[in-house]
Amino acid sequence: MKELKKTCDLCGLAVETIGFNLHTNEGDKEFCCEGCKGIYQMLHEDIILDTADKDNEAN
Ligand SMILES: [Zn+2]
Repeated sequence: MKELKKTCDLCGLAVETIGFNLHTNEGDKEFCCEGCKGIYQMLHEDIILDTADKDNEAN
């Protein structure tokens, strides 16, 4: 079994759900939940790179 021992970059809890991640100037950050991701994004918006998955916002 493959275990990813990731911890939330905001609160430090174990990350059990993959998908709440951000690309930043300082590398990829992973979060345990949408809330932590959102807060980190707010606090560090100047280092956040492309959040991706914005393709369907064209027009
Ligand atoms: Zn967290």
